Amino acid sequence: MSDQGRIDGRTKLFGLIATPIGHSLAPTMHNLAFKKLGLNNAYMAFEVGNEELAYVVAGFRALHLKGFNVSMPNKTKIQPLLDEITPAAELIGAVNTVVNENGKLIGHNTDGLGYIGTLTERDVDFVGKKMTLMGAGGAAKAVAIQAALDGIAEISIFNRDITKASDIAALINKETNCRVNAYKLDDLDSLKSEIASSDILTNATGVGMNPLEGQSLIPDTSWLRPELVVSDLIYNPRKTTLLEQAEAVGCKAINGLGMMLWAGSRSFEIWTGKEMPVEHVKKHLF
Ligand code: NAP
Repeated sequence: MSDQGRIDGRTKLFGLIATPIGHSLAPTMHNLAFKKLGLNNAYMAFEVGNEELAYVVAGFRALHLKGFNVSMPNKTKIQPLLDEITPAAELIGAVNTVVNENGKLIGHNTDGLGYIGTLTERDVDFVGKKMTLMGAGGAAKAVAIQAALDGIAEISIFNRDITKASDIAALINKETNCRVNAYKLDDLDSLKSEIASSDILTNATGVGMNPLEGQSLIPDTSWLRPELVVSDLIYNPRKTTLLEQAEAVGCKAINGLGMMLWAGSRSFEIWTGKEMPVEHVKKHLF
């Protein structure tokens, strides 16, 4: 069925503000879900950077948008423009979902919840376990903080810029019961031994996607073992070199599509109070 004629005088607008934006799967995901549930909503992507951000948020307020997503480069800059921020988003220091509750704009962060959602979907037990996390950017921080809040026992973070990894470690050690250590990414001896004592290995760097497609931070498959769960936040390509290495060894290998989907599904729930029809979305999107 075509979407022609679906928008009428009562359609509620939802959106995404980011730049660049053309590659985003979010509009397809949310519009599929709205249509499946018969909700008279529409989701659009808007090319918005830091310069236009304040005007756009004021405009969305004036138009009474029920909700919108926020992505790079606006996830940290949007915070002073909102009325409230959830404790998890405050800790992560970034907002990816905004809901308008009776005129109040409330900022959430569902990225880490998306990661936990994909682990749960793939039957990965992370409570009380140890993760080696490569990367300390925005996505890594959301993953580490949500995993710590939800009961992971230990995380070893490796990053080129050790300051970023140390800052995340200090924050989590202060705010949760999870123990976190920070290492430089080129400390290969530590990387190898931390992976050997971990249950989960996660890549949250851009290594493996364009322009670093075909590369992996793991120099040798002998560093992996079948019991290790290997996840990569990248979903383009669907199978990074790291995930190919993991599959060759017999590990459970998880790409970033699930994180994107489950993060979107949490946003959908926050806005509509309804569960996203995830299987329907998956069938059409993946
Ligand atoms: P970000 O804040 O810019 O962080 C980039 C991270 O990658 C930093 O840790 C950076 O290290 C590291 N990095 C970049 N180039 C590297 C290289 N050549 N060698 C080693 N490390 C390198 O970006 P982000 O938002 O966290 O995104 C990180 C990854 O997660 C991306 O691949 C993105 O596509 C993916 N992601 C997936 C989802 C999802 O839903 N599946 C959501 C968000 C992000 P330095 O700090 O040392 O520069």
